[in-house]
Amino acid sequence: MDSCLFCRIVSGAMTSSTVYQDEHVTAFRDITPQAPVHVLVVPNEHVGSINDLDDAHDAVMGRLLRTTKLVAEHEGVGESGYRLVINNGADAMQSVAHLHVHVLGGRHLGWPPG
Ligand code: AMP
Repeated sequence: MDSCLFCRIVSGAMTSSTVYQDEHVTAFRDITPQAPVHVLVVPNEHVGSINDLDDAHDAVMGRLLRTTKLVAEHEGVGESGYRLVINNGADAMQSVAHLHVHVLGGRHLGWPPG
């Protein structure tokens, strides 16, 4: 999808600070970091949101979740702790319509979130 920002990052058509990529998922640094570690992990295939998932996505979603662990370890927050966030839909302020997991860490993260 040429119109999708994260599809362009996945394909390399748009530059990003890539942390990890394989044939299923891509991880890159958020352009507006909200914590010392703020990496986004996305499926390479365009999936708009959690609402668009079906059985065919089970494997890639498993890979996506496991990649967050690899990213956290790589960024040095695997042991200190990190938060995974998926903003889904308007009320959650999802701003990019390509499913993504935020991996946040490197500081104390308050609860409840805003
Ligand atoms: P969300 O609000 O959950 O949809 O998150 C979208 C995230 O994408 C935000 O945290 C943005 O800072 C981030 N973002 C937007 N454009 C880029 C970009 N070109 N490269 C990296 N991150 C981006």
